[in-house]
Amino acid sequence: MSVLTFQKADGSLSQYTFLDAQPIALHAHEGGLSLGSVEGVPQAVITRSKVYQVPLVVSLSGDTRVRVNGRRVVGLRVLRHGSRLQVGNFEMTFWEMILQEVEVGSPLRNRRCPICRLAYQVGDEVIICPRCGLPHHKECWLEHEFCSNTGCLYPIRETFKRLLAAHGLVLEQLAANSPLVGQQVRCRAGRPGVDAQPFQAGQHVVYCPNKDCKAAFHLECWVSLGNCPACGKYDVSKFLRSIFIPNTPPYLGEERAETPEAAVS
Ligand SMILES: [Zn+2]
Ligand SMILES: [Zn+2]
Ligand SMILES: [Zn+2]
Ligand SMILES: [Zn+2]
Repeated sequence: MSVLTFQKADGSLSQYTFLDAQPIALHAHEGGLSLGSVEGVPQAVITRSKVYQVPLVVSLSGDTRVRVNGRRVVGLRVLRHGSRLQVGNFEMTFWEMILQEVEVGSPLRNRRCPICRLAYQVGDEVIICPRCGLPHHKECWLEHEFCSNTGCLYPIRETFKRLLAAHGLVLEQLAANSPLVGQQVRCRAGRPGVDAQPFQAGQHVVYCPNKDCKAAFHLECWVSLGNCPACGKYDVSKFLRSIFIPNTPPYLGEERAETPEAAVS
């Protein structure tokens, strides 16, 4: 399942959910944008490749007004989570990894996470694999390189790393000569067991994006954080919701938090 979000002519936000097995046609006309099967010649079709089910946009009309991230689509172009797609005057965002909260009565409640084997509870944050449809806890999903389903191989880490970079965050695999390893720095999450040892070469590390903080965390520790325990000014859970839930406002950190108090005194 994938989602396209876009702004309508009246300024309101709209979202369109579609199944991967079903190609969708987009047709921009003077009055607006049509999604789904439309009469006449569509300008673009979203579908998946036969091999690896990679999402693609196909420009059927050869029109210069079909663009991905500002670049004209000649023939076809791969879509990634967060890609900005333009058809005519309409700009849409493509969403693939979508975060959802388990609700009372959700069919997910009868299922277990394939990674940690725990049954899903109300309030758990879950990401459904966009390629094979298998649900995972957010933390269990984001800490792995590929989808856990044998034969699926959805590239989680590659997609997540690119997404973090687009928001100015760094995810790196520590080399043996990394200063974090050399100086025996420990992960600031303070989890018993894993964080009692300093960082090791080969581990995947994320740095807090607050420029006054930049504390280092194991990837698996960071994705389960709320507020950064080192600076208390960057809410990781809020950031992840902003990049995995369509139509959530962008999250830029809590750096403004001190300003109003200073103004009062
Ligand atoms: Zn899990
Ligand atoms: Zn999968
Ligand atoms: Zn850690
Ligand atoms: Zn921080």
